[in-house]
Amino acid sequence: MRHLRKFLESDNTFALMAGPCSVESELQMRTVLEHASIGSLVRGGIFKMRTRPDTFQGLREQGIEIIKELKKEFDFDFITEISDPRQLELLDSVTDMYQIGTRNMYNYELLKEINNYKKPVLLKRGLSATIDEWLGAASYFSNLKNNEIILCERGVRSFDNKLRNMLDLGSVIYLKQNTQYKVVVDPSHSMGHAQYVKEASYAALCAGADGLLIETHPTPQAALSDKDQALSLEEFAQLSNTVKELLKVFNKELFHTNLDYMNAQSKEIYTNA
Ligand code: PEP
Ligand code: MN
Repeated sequence: MRHLRKFLESDNTFALMAGPCSVESELQMRTVLEHASIGSLVRGGIFKMRTRPDTFQGLREQGIEIIKELKKEFDFDFITEISDPRQLELLDSVTDMYQIGTRNMYNYELLKEINNYKKPVLLKRGLSATIDEWLGAASYFSNLKNNEIILCERGVRSFDNKLRNMLDLGSVIYLKQNTQYKVVVDPSHSMGHAQYVKEASYAALCAGADGLLIETHPTPQAALSDKDQALSLEEFAQLSNTVKELLKVFNKELFHTNLDYMNAQSKEIYTNA
């Protein structure tokens, strides 16, 4: 939790939270964690909310074990979605921040349950939620401080279906000027195609976002969920370099605790084993 806390308590820092849509295997997550551009805030779905039941539903218990083991080697904070209070006990052992997915923003009983756990939350905007409805959902977290609640704009459903969703950067500008919450943008679910993710990310930064939640995968085309929108690790590294440059204009710093030190340690353990 210490990386996340540091980010939540800081001003003028910009966080890159990255990782695959779904945790798929130990090797996949290890490859992500060992990549130099990946910082200490790592995402990965364990219980997936899929549109159809015949698609990959997440590794569930097995995914928890993978993250538990990797946390012994790598010093990262883990962000994952919770979709049902019955997952709380399992997820609590590996999660540093609960992600509430777009489909659950209106699930007020779930929000109340999570409020009892007093862990930071990342609250995604509902598919067609107004800003007021989104803020109403955020107010369910009465046990959390304002800076422990991150609002995540991930695009809304609109009249246009060319892209996966319509990225509403207006919401970011509004929320930054009128609320105390940190606001991040998920360009992956907004755009739905990897080729648009970089530009959407830079635009979000310029709109005043405090960070980005980005899907990355060692081999995007083989991803078990959301393969079209995942950036390769190399693409993510390029994005991260440009983000660093852009932040200078806004007098902000990239929040990035490099995992190198832990990596070096883990590699040693790994080769000695
Ligand atoms: C996700 O982050 O993988 C996800 C399912 O996002 P959303 O709830 O925004 O669709
Ligand atoms: Mn996804």
